[in-house]
Amino acid sequence: MKRWVAIVGPAIFLFSCAWMYLMMEVRDPDRPTTTMKPYLAQQLNTVIESIDKDFKELEKEKNDLARQLTHAMAKNPKLAAMVKETTRPLEQSISHDQQQQQQQQQQGAPTGVGAVDDAVKKREVAMPALSRPTFKFVQPVASGDVCSVTNAMPSKTGIKMDEFLEKEDFADIDGGVWKQGFELSYSMSDFDKEPLHVFVVPHSHNDPGWLKTVEGYYEAQTRSILNNIVNFLSEKSDRKFIWAEMSYLSMWWNEQGDNMKEKFRKLVRNKQLEIVTGGWVMNDEANTHYFAMIDQMIEGHEWIRHNVGENIIPSSGWAIDPFGHSPTMAYILKRMKFDFMLIQRTHYIVKKQFARQKSLEFSWKQTWDSTQGNTDMLTHMMPFYSYDVPHTCGPDPKVCCQFDFRRLAGGKLTCPWRINPVPINDGNVEARAEMLLDQYRKKSRLFRTNVLLIPLGDDFRYDLVMDAQNQFNNYEALMTYINNTPRLKAKVQFGTLSDYYNELIKRAGKDASGLPKDFPSVGGDFFTYTDRNDDYWSGYFTSRPFYKNLDRVLETTLRASELLFSVSHALVAQTSGKVEFDSGAAFSDLVQARRTVGLFQHHDGITGTARMEVVVDYGKKLINAYHGLMGMMRNAVSAFLQAKAAVKVTLSETSARPAHDSLETLTVIDMASAPRLVTIYNPLARARTSVVRLLVNDRNIEVVNSDLKPVPFQLSPSWQTADEPDKINFEILIKVFALPLGVTSLLLRKTSTAASLASTTLLSSTKSNPEFNVNAGSASAFSVENSQYKLDFDTKGMLKSIFTKSSQTTTNVALKFLVYGTVIRPGHKPGAYLFFPAGPAEPHGHDVNPVVRVVRGSLCNTVSVHWPQITHHLSIYNIDGLESFGIDIENIVDITQHNQKEFIMRLETDVKPTDAVYYTDLNGFTMQKRKYNGKLPTQGNFYPLPAMAFLEDSRQRLSLASAQPLGSSSLQPGWLEVVLDRRLMQDDDRGLGQPVTDNKPTKSSFRLLLEQKPAAAEETAGSAHATLMANMLLELFMHHPISYVSSSPYTDPTVPAPLSGIAQAGLPCNLFMVNLRTLQKEGGSGLPQPGSHRALLVHNKGFDCRYAVPDFCMTTNSQVNLGALFEGLHLRSVQNVSLSLAHRHNDVSPFTPVSIRPLEIEAYNLEL
Ligand SMILES: [Zn+2]
Repeated sequence: MKRWVAIVGPAIFLFSCAWMYLMMEVRDPDRPTTTMKPYLAQQLNTVIESIDKDFKELEKEKNDLARQLTHAMAKNPKLAAMVKETTRPLEQSISHDQQQQQQQQQQGAPTGVGAVDDAVKKREVAMPALSRPTFKFVQPVASGDVCSVTNAMPSKTGIKMDEFLEKEDFADIDGGVWKQGFELSYSMSDFDKEPLHVFVVPHSHNDPGWLKTVEGYYEAQTRSILNNIVNFLSEKSDRKFIWAEMSYLSMWWNEQGDNMKEKFRKLVRNKQLEIVTGGWVMNDEANTHYFAMIDQMIEGHEWIRHNVGENIIPSSGWAIDPFGHSPTMAYILKRMKFDFMLIQRTHYIVKKQFARQKSLEFSWKQTWDSTQGNTDMLTHMMPFYSYDVPHTCGPDPKVCCQFDFRRLAGGKLTCPWRINPVPINDGNVEARAEMLLDQYRKKSRLFRTNVLLIPLGDDFRYDLVMDAQNQFNNYEALMTYINNTPRLKAKVQFGTLSDYYNELIKRAGKDASGLPKDFPSVGGDFFTYTDRNDDYWSGYFTSRPFYKNLDRVLETTLRASELLFSVSHALVAQTSGKVEFDSGAAFSDLVQARRTVGLFQHHDGITGTARMEVVVDYGKKLINAYHGLMGMMRNAVSAFLQAKAAVKVTLSETSARPAHDSLETLTVIDMASAPRLVTIYNPLARARTSVVRLLVNDRNIEVVNSDLKPVPFQLSPSWQTADEPDKINFEILIKVFALPLGVTSLLLRKTSTAASLASTTLLSSTKSNPEFNVNAGSASAFSVENSQYKLDFDTKGMLKSIFTKSSQTTTNVALKFLVYGTVIRPGHKPGAYLFFPAGPAEPHGHDVNPVVRVVRGSLCNTVSVHWPQITHHLSIYNIDGLESFGIDIENIVDITQHNQKEFIMRLETDVKPTDAVYYTDLNGFTMQKRKYNGKLPTQGNFYPLPAMAFLEDSRQRLSLASAQPLGSSSLQPGWLEVVLDRRLMQDDDRGLGQPVTDNKPTKSSFRLLLEQKPAAAEETAGSAHATLMANMLLELFMHHPISYVSSSPYTDPTVPAPLSGIAQAGLPCNLFMVNLRTLQKEGGSGLPQPGSHRALLVHNKGFDCRYAVPDFCMTTNSQVNLGALFEGLHLRSVQNVSLSLAHRHNDVSPFTPVSIRPLEIEAYNLEL
């Protein structure tokens, strides 16, 4: 046994050495030595240092492993056999590697074409990402390394939300006037030492789309609101206001003359008017991805900088309406250097308990933060039911409503508590001031200082001159009286959030990290929100899933476009006019798409809680932006090819989404015009091998690379119905190798012989068709397999279990479709916001035998099941590279015939965690522990699933990546379910006034990954993280290659070799290039033009270090040499900036490596 370990240890070591040296070769471009010398030396030093580190690490690892293994295997012969089996590929990997490199040369990297860059070919041979990966374990090496951070114990947190929910009994006891709270009292002596200092903060909540479209609201109300604010504030210097939505402000701005713009700027400069958050919208926090959350903030902050003023930088967050709150928002605002943020919609029991403990103001920290206060964000949680005036002045809405002067007699609006406000005059001011102060004082007892925040506004307020007049004048009368009456021991003034924050900090004092002294800390999230009773807002996690999916399509297309534009624009600039590229038009497509993505992140956009006609309006905006980007990328790929390979080609799209409600379809490539050049753009900053799917109208076809050598492909029938092949068109799947942010070109040619078709087996069908290689038969169980898995299916074509070849283990994973019904009764009205299942979900279609189609090909095996209302596809790939580890699921659901139903997909597995624990992500940024809670109704046990969930037991982990945000839960240990669509025939009384009946055939896509947990893995002390494999598979899945085809026959004798947009080594496996966003040129008038500055955002993704990582992953290095990464693009300067670029810090030299802190997202302003 010992001898065997002694062989494997050095094998790992040797293999790593070989790869490290190959990496060095990658970094050794053929450049003139004069310019290369210092650069190369630096490069080599960095690499050598890291090799040195890795050597030591490996040595230590080898010894530790040997000791552990020997010990464990001596005790357990079964384990010994298993370990030997698992690590056999490692022993073979070295000889294997050479073989694979030869294959790569054949497929991707030509040897004969010298048209481009000889160095490219040489270096491609060394690209490690292509090999079928073997695996290694990583150990923390230094304090700045990902594993040392993920393994670290998070710093002490006062309140952990998951523990809080577990302990809470959720007793909804009537609290009196504050129904969901408790009786409040005070003594005047409470204000002896410190008088009460009240900041009344006027605000107007403007939804960019909800009951009306964004333009509809603007015309009807928002234009007047902004006019009124500017006019009323300009009248008196102590009047204040806050404004949140830059989408609306920019619409208004475009209509104003210089005079009005200057008036607005002046109000901002003298701090009467504060821009809060400053995002394009007040974004939803459940369904949103951090890419879009950050992007819509950058868009807003950049707009402010270009229009309101260079030094106007928001520092207070304001989120009064998102339906539940995520710590990702706290993280983002912290890294944008905000001082303060406010949240409102949290579970009423959370509000009550936080209020009891005077914990409504706290530092919100990331659950993974092991430092003292590094991520802490000062947060204010509003205590009462709503953000309107009746629920903000104090605990008694009946009293507070009398201080909403919009509701003065004679107006349309009155108080539901039947006592309306009266105008303040000399005769009543004393009594009224006492009444209001009584509420203020009671509310102040919930906080730790005598500084009090009183928002004053509601939806679309201050739209009428009369409204603004009544509100300001009456409050001014009250304030004058109070401030001139010392016995009241109070000062009341208009204020902004910053005014409040500054006074709060003054009273509380600051601790070492700049936060108020002795405030509690909180870790975790505020989902799932309920405002009353059992009304959990978990329906909106899924409502309008068609557009939730389209949102992610647009987001990833936007990201791909940003990166491609930045690279192409920089490349074209170097050709001094030789390459034509309309960068102005391209940039305007980008800006439009940024703003559309931003708009849809609104808390009635991506949430699916707008009226049907508004949903259509959003949909049209999304699809227009998508079309703009696809067209832009087509031109950018052409420009890229021309600049890098001197090849000029006009391109067309290979798929189409004609309308806002259509599913994507492949566009036929007409082989009558062969040969056709296919170009494939890889939007990842790492090389990849993936499968690209196209549609052709000829079987006599071949695919060749730049060396005119054949490329592996699979030809499959295209299907007209479940069991009827298309007689003319065929799907062609091509295995493609692509370099980081690079373009790979292939040629589709006609041949004299027909290519063979993948074999199809039809179950529960009689339609055999030898011409198309289709065999039909009756229902039976079957399996499909690739190099990693053998999947077993039941007689209805549904996945039953997964056999993992490397570990020789079988895991039961039963995939099922089920349906929740609903019962309508008073207090139970499910709709766009609310979920009310009638009872357990019932199986869907259990009485039918669906047609099952099994296509087995050289590159991909696909099982398709045609259920009534659900078409389900499950695929695995036969390719070297990571994607053979993913099991892809695609469902097309049409729920239109099922009223009052919710369709779900459930995985029932024997991955059984103790305590019913499972994990879902928050905004694709962190993983959050969840646990089934029997004290909550079913709907209270559903959580957002924006990107990933996993189940884990002592043996293995099953990760589910999702291509779109949806609601999810684990109602029993080993179960994981996702709501796919919902159709509800009534409004749920939250203001929308409509049912959800605009369903349409909707696609949802997922990727499953099953990983074996190492036997020696201990429970982590730290927080939960996705595995590195899951992160990488999700990236490959979401950021798929984008293909175009030449519009006409391609007659150029040269096919470009695979080209890279950045250094071929790309980024290490744990670093993700979130964005490379070209900034608007400074100054100038007319349409925004692209400048040479780009915002680079890089995320150092945390991962669970107990799981093995692919051997080619250099993950212990969190440093990036940006000068080397952007080789060929002439990086001129690098500046450290805050996450929205608003705070610009120090410059660093382009070739000095920058450190991306583990688990963090760092931003840089690059000139290239
Ligand atoms: Zn709203």
